[in-house]
Amino acid sequence: MNVKKVIPSGYCKGVIRAIELAKKTRLENKEAKIYVLGMIVHNRYVAEALKRYRIETLDDKAKSKEELLDKIDDGIVIFTAHGIADRIKKKAEDKGLKYVDASCDDVIATQKLVKEKITEGYKVLYIGKKSHPEALAILSISEDIHLIANPDDLSSLKLDDDKIFVTNQTTMSLLEVKSFFDKIAQIYPKAVFAKEICNATTMRQNAILNLKDCDLLYIVGDPSSNNSMKLKELGEKVGIRKVRMIEDASEITETDLGDVKNVYVTSGASTPAYLQEQVIAVLKDYAQTKVLKKPKVDLAEIL
Ligand code: SF4
Repeated sequence: MNVKKVIPSGYCKGVIRAIELAKKTRLENKEAKIYVLGMIVHNRYVAEALKRYRIETLDDKAKSKEELLDKIDDGIVIFTAHGIADRIKKKAEDKGLKYVDASCDDVIATQKLVKEKITEGYKVLYIGKKSHPEALAILSISEDIHLIANPDDLSSLKLDDDKIFVTNQTTMSLLEVKSFFDKIAQIYPKAVFAKEICNATTMRQNAILNLKDCDLLYIVGDPSSNNSMKLKELGEKVGIRKVRMIEDASEITETDLGDVKNVYVTSGASTPAYLQEQVIAVLKDYAQTKVLKKPKVDLAEIL
């Protein structure tokens, strides 16, 4: 069995920056209470590792960012790489909290573009994931932004064709966005399009599209990570025989490895390199020994 790492894979610049900002915030504020409003990046091991820095992640899918912010009375709040609504920043200021904005530059660029188009009088169709923090931050800009999360959202929408601007969440799949763009162009022939899939997402997806001899693809990532999920969907779409998403090496199974020659390992932009390398090490060891080891995740290695 051959074990290969997909290149590029793993952390992107936005995730590296967000994690470095969190660590720097602790270093410069030794005694302060520090909170992250939501998952700083979508990986539960990262959130757990941040606790070692006494940085608490406030994440509850049933609660809005406003409600989560209500839980903080003092200290510093970190906004995540996915972007944040202006009204949440204002609320933090009004509460007298210091904040650190870890929004990725690519996310901010899409927000800026959407704001410009709204000012120019466009209605915006935004292809994204329902309830994802990046999509929520964009939708907060104006009521003239419509989330397109699936084809039904498109068919139920009735807009004048005059000024329609179409864009997308940075971590969507290349194939999915193209398919939506094609459908929208048929319904609204005068629509203006801007593909905003970020460079890191594009490169990681292209690496999957270019795999030639892959029998089994492991995607190391958290199920809540949109970019990791899109790598999985893409692997399935291009017909790779077995595609498995795993959070760590303990989820590798002998059943999956039974009849494969070439195993590739990739990971989402929010997955620590340590988790991907551990998976690769376990697979290489299995290829030699035919014994599947189940190592524990060492949180000290995550950040
Ligand atoms: S996946 Fe793209 S948009 Fe998201 S944090 Fe990374 S570089 Fe930024």
